[in-house]
Amino acid sequence: MVREELLKEYSKVWAINYASALMGWDSETYMPEGSAKERGEASAILSSLKQSILTSQRFLDLFEKLKESASDDFERALVRVLEHDLKYYLRLPPELIEEMERTTNEAKIAWRNAKKRSDFSLFAPYLEKIVELSREAAERLGYEEHPYDALLDLYEEGLKTSDVERMFDELRSPLKKELQRILDFWPREHPLEETPYPREGMERLNKALLDALGFQWDYMRVDSSAHPFTENIGLYDVRITTWYHPKDFRRSLLATVHEFGHALYERNCDPSLWKTPLCGGVSLGIHESQSRFWENVVGRSRAFADFVAPMVREYLNIETSPHEIFRYFNVVRPSLIRVEADEVTYNFHIMLRFEIEKGLIEGSIEVRELPEVWNSKMEEYLGIRPSNDSEGVLQDIHWSLGAIGYFPTYSIGTIVAAQIKREMERELPLEELIREGNFAPIRDWLKERIHRHGRLYPPRELLRRALGEELNPSAFIEYIRGKYREAP
Ligand code: MG
Repeated sequence: MVREELLKEYSKVWAINYASALMGWDSETYMPEGSAKERGEASAILSSLKQSILTSQRFLDLFEKLKESASDDFERALVRVLEHDLKYYLRLPPELIEEMERTTNEAKIAWRNAKKRSDFSLFAPYLEKIVELSREAAERLGYEEHPYDALLDLYEEGLKTSDVERMFDELRSPLKKELQRILDFWPREHPLEETPYPREGMERLNKALLDALGFQWDYMRVDSSAHPFTENIGLYDVRITTWYHPKDFRRSLLATVHEFGHALYERNCDPSLWKTPLCGGVSLGIHESQSRFWENVVGRSRAFADFVAPMVREYLNIETSPHEIFRYFNVVRPSLIRVEADEVTYNFHIMLRFEIEKGLIEGSIEVRELPEVWNSKMEEYLGIRPSNDSEGVLQDIHWSLGAIGYFPTYSIGTIVAAQIKREMERELPLEELIREGNFAPIRDWLKERIHRHGRLYPPRELLRRALGEELNPSAFIEYIRGKYREAP
């Protein structure tokens, strides 16, 4: 049968992905620094090996045959997902892919250097090249309405520029109003942000917390890295990292909870999808909805503060109350750095990036104008202005990696997390479960509605099936209004 033959051929790709993921995880955690170049070489060869399998005549013939004969949901999904993933290799000439790789390899180093010196001009020529290559890629990948659509689709299947515009149009002014209202009476800082904590105690706290959340130690592990991430190596091997700072334990704790959300999604894919292209998270936006659900909806709730307060006292020796932990976890203040932003101001950071990316791709914004454009948008949205490039336009690594079209998925994640909360509360006493540390019903709900399906349905359809509606920014506004109603 075509299906079996195709999946057998695909298992080579699966094995390459497995090895690449393990190598990627290792390079951010335990790899000796001196091996970076050698590791890069090996990774590049594996990735071109993968490309040659996927674009081989044999694989493409099998794919065409399956396309003609697909007769059930699984086979139709297989065709859809492969069509989406193959587009990148089939429509982009190898020279363009190679040039992008070469450019981003240099750009990463230039970006790091530029950020250190806070000098955008050191990075600008590389970004110009990346924008030029991305525009060429968009033309070759194809789009219906806007060239930026082609790039969005790489991260969020089917997402269009007009969808993102609609999303932010619905969010922008109500959220601005909410932020002004909240800033009048809500804490903008908290003493625990300046309180040192013992690293060893924090490691034990994170482990105890993961235990309670339902971390599957037989198939998962946790380490530390410069920036927290989740690496999905296989269905039976999902790894997360967290980070530790000398003070402000919230950063470590909530990062751990966030990555747990990503890991659970990967781990809960139905085993019947194992080794197929359908196993794993369907898109970055849906993935981020899982991490944001655990981080924001669960981790920043009053009930969670009740639940976690005894652990803070036990492991960190910090005398505090659930009330203070809630205030501390939910400080709201306009800030310059996206990764440090609270849940109320966060989406403004994304709006700004989206507007800039769209402008760069359609040609209405030039790279050299970016520091000024960035700073004025920051002032317009959050009322603050970066005093240098490193806390402004140079803060994120994404553009240096060639990832244009990625940022909007973060906002999709925060919105969908609020939709999940609303839907889940119709069926589960969410607050009570969190307060009791009884997370199993929450995990089961997510698994049943979202996780087990892997990539079987496109993001839009998955949302319709799981939540009865597509992306709905009003759920996020409602969540913010409900939570920040009165002084904590
Ligand atoms: Mg994430």
